Amino acid sequence: MSQTTQVKAIDKLKSIEEKWQKRWDEIKLYEPEINEKPSEFVTFPYPYVNGPIHIGHAFTCNKVDIYARFKRLMGYNVLFPFAFHATGEPIVGTAKRVKKNDKDQINALLASGISRSFVKKFIDPEFIASYWREEVTKAAKNIGWGIDWRRPFITIEPLYKEFVTWQYLTLKKRGYIQKGTHNVIFCPACQSPTGDHDRLEGEGASPVQFALVKFEITEDIDQVPKGKKKYLVAATLRPETIYGATNVWFNPEGDYSLIKIDDSDEYWIVSKTGAFKLREQLRSITTISEFKGKEYLGIYAKNPVNNTSIPVLPADFVDPEHSSGVVYSVPGHAPFDYLALKDLQENPDVLEKYGIDKKTVMDIELINVVTTSGEFKTQFPGKEVVEDLGVKNQNDPKAIKATDIVYKKEFHRGIMSDNTGNFAGKKVSEIKDELISEFQKINITDSLGLWETSETVICRSNDKCIVKTLQDQWFLDYGNPVWKEKTKIAFEKMNIYPKEAISAFNYTRNWLKAKACARKSGLGTKLPWDAESGWIVETLSDSTIYMSFYTIIHKIREWGLTPEQLKPEFFDYVFLNSNKPAVTTLSKKIGVTTKQLKELRDEFNYWYPVTLRISGKDLIYNHLSFFLFQHVAIWEKFPDKWPRQIGAGGMLGIDNQKMSKSRGNFITLKEGLEIYGADAIRMGLAYSDEGFDDPNFSRKATANFVDKLVSIYEQFITLSEFKYKGKPRHMDKWLENRVKDHINITKTNYEQLKTRNVVSDAFFGFLLDLRWYKRRESQVSEIYNEAIETFVLLIAPIIPHIAEEVWESWHSDQESIFREHWPAADKYTYHIDVDIFENSLKRLIQDIKNLLGIVKDNIDTIDLYVAESWKYDLVNLANSVPNKELIKEAMKNPSLKKKGKLVSTYAKKMLRQQEKLGIDINLNLEKEFLDSTKIFLLNEFKDSNIKRINVLSAEDEVDTEKLKRADPLRPAILLK
Ligand SMILES: [Zn+2]
Repeated sequence: MSQTTQVKAIDKLKSIEEKWQKRWDEIKLYEPEINEKPSEFVTFPYPYVNGPIHIGHAFTCNKVDIYARFKRLMGYNVLFPFAFHATGEPIVGTAKRVKKNDKDQINALLASGISRSFVKKFIDPEFIASYWREEVTKAAKNIGWGIDWRRPFITIEPLYKEFVTWQYLTLKKRGYIQKGTHNVIFCPACQSPTGDHDRLEGEGASPVQFALVKFEITEDIDQVPKGKKKYLVAATLRPETIYGATNVWFNPEGDYSLIKIDDSDEYWIVSKTGAFKLREQLRSITTISEFKGKEYLGIYAKNPVNNTSIPVLPADFVDPEHSSGVVYSVPGHAPFDYLALKDLQENPDVLEKYGIDKKTVMDIELINVVTTSGEFKTQFPGKEVVEDLGVKNQNDPKAIKATDIVYKKEFHRGIMSDNTGNFAGKKVSEIKDELISEFQKINITDSLGLWETSETVICRSNDKCIVKTLQDQWFLDYGNPVWKEKTKIAFEKMNIYPKEAISAFNYTRNWLKAKACARKSGLGTKLPWDAESGWIVETLSDSTIYMSFYTIIHKIREWGLTPEQLKPEFFDYVFLNSNKPAVTTLSKKIGVTTKQLKELRDEFNYWYPVTLRISGKDLIYNHLSFFLFQHVAIWEKFPDKWPRQIGAGGMLGIDNQKMSKSRGNFITLKEGLEIYGADAIRMGLAYSDEGFDDPNFSRKATANFVDKLVSIYEQFITLSEFKYKGKPRHMDKWLENRVKDHINITKTNYEQLKTRNVVSDAFFGFLLDLRWYKRRESQVSEIYNEAIETFVLLIAPIIPHIAEEVWESWHSDQESIFREHWPAADKYTYHIDVDIFENSLKRLIQDIKNLLGIVKDNIDTIDLYVAESWKYDLVNLANSVPNKELIKEAMKNPSLKKKGKLVSTYAKKMLRQQEKLGIDINLNLEKEFLDSTKIFLLNEFKDSNIKRINVLSAEDEVDTEKLKRADPLRPAILLK
């Protein structure tokens, strides 16, 4: 298709789309009221209004819409609402970055189509939220999602805050919120815990504890009084390797501190950042002096497990910002240590620069401390893996991979070597706790250790986060075993799609621990019982049960209720069926009439629970799991209000690449709609689906859908006039089979959220079938029109606008196809024999084509030989006897017995090919069928100059050798 025709095609689609979006508004198609139908309540996570909605979001939301439309056709009263998330750091962070003239932030805004002069306005969080809210709404309407637009809210509006206030008061009353001392991931700049959604980097990271190993310095240090102990304090996750330490590493240019720790008499040397972290973890620290790492190079310290004296040496890989900034070296087992040692041994001039004795370094030998039989060739895997992978030096990124390999193998398979004292012969995987407690007892390691983030975490304020120990912090007690157990019960009653997601949910539920639920910066609702101290409910905590708010917000707005009226008792009455206080008392107290209160309670009870939530699979580890926990907590006495189904999908890629701004393949929904229009992009997104794997959006396929949809429209806009009005013919029955199949298969696909299968089967598969029917029958009968009506109904949830337009052309009296019913499959009886014959015909055509490809002579006649009649007898017999008795039973039949060995050979072939027909056939039926296809076949092969087709059997004058090759439903072919 040329570019101009493609433009025309999109214009055509867009004009249809606009027409129907307007119509849906007019007839209030998506504004459901309570009625006698069963309810269906589907939701998509409300998006953050700090940027445009991109086609990755659209992929997920589109699935919700498709399911909602399917359920409408199934006779459900469907609610699909939408809202906007604005709490937490994201929007404030954007505003701050714009104010600071942050280049990346400004470029991101420019890239989303905002003009340079307009960017200035984005220093105001409120403006940001309202701007993107409007943009997201426009895009959601233009793609044709069937959303009830009476119900949106934004999480920073006063009405919503009253809802969150009630939610948190209830959780606290039930004992799910605790105050305590915990380690949290914390942003020093924001002075606040940093939840998953407040992070630019490191979502899912959690605090991990490093052991602190103390290497005593024996020489005098000026600032340390004589007689006091002083240590280099190294952090490690593998304290068992201490037996193999050959030296200690400092980063020569790093900032280090000499500190006095707690009330002890000990002096420690750690990095400046390390000292800061210890202080944030409630250690009392006095800084004595600060210096560069190079100042301590060359001094000696004692390895605490064996008292050997080891030197302090320089290494660039040591990050003073990470843990304590001091590392002890185990070159036999740690690739980085081996590489740093090798770098020094090969470049001794570095040593000269720092005045370190060369011989000390040259003499260092690797020490083995862990034996891993069969995993490594040598006893020094640190060296071996470096050499195997060809890692060049400590700055080579492959060093990380090498570390990972050694760590995993040694952890899972390693045994402590003979030189490891009491631990010799024990499994590495089993000794960690014992070893640490032993080491702590004799002051080899510090008793508290140092907490570090499991991976780098960057706050949305662009600052690096640390682990902070917070006292008097409010926590959601997700570690509570009773709560976990109840949530497990709720989970086991649910449908989870795809099933691969189930184990991720189980893992998360088992692993979840106390989680900080409040922070001190950003937007949100004040923690109701501790508002004066500045606590605000954290963003992943105020977005867990908000779906319930959708059920009543439209009435609250319609009646003009104020935040002051939405007291906790109001929500208790509406959501928890509470009758304390009595409704009349409550009504008087808050100034909402009893009729209104009852109506709101009815709304909630009619719509709740959420019947389907679809989200990204990455959110199983936080958001989706919190969603379950909190529903169980709030509605602990009402299991019928717990969520019913969850769908979790992967991250959408574009043309097999990750979508990213830097790759230039970032597509906002608005841009996508401009290029492809609504129905084509809906189909493109539906077709991207890959279950639990990451889906892939193909731009080429989506562009093709544009043409495809226009051709569907042109083809079906008027129904064919059916000319054949007699009894159903073979092909009419065949088409009935297809219609029945497509209805059943498509229903299952929609139910299991398999939208890609819907497009493949209900769209492409069905179209092929319709085309085949028309190829086979020149005159269509009524079933053909029924079939295309069914086709349009089945695919309508994917391409609603085109479906409406075509439907209207047939049924001008109906307002919308979505008021129709899902077609009934039971109405059609299945004609299995028809399928069997039709499949044999398709195979025959292929066989003839193959032969015509080989035989190049002038051919004008095709002779088709049907099989000898005894073969039919044997095929029919196979339908009624077990496989292993087939030959024995055949021999009881005199006419088969006469054929002797031929029968057993053919029976074996049948059994090998496992071809049981399931219906009885005979030679005459097949002949009749083939005779009836002659005209069709002649037409199929008219380009090959075929003039005649003869259907022959043993009774005719035939080539007996050829005849032997004919099997029932697979005639022998003779070209002449
Ligand atoms: Zn921050």
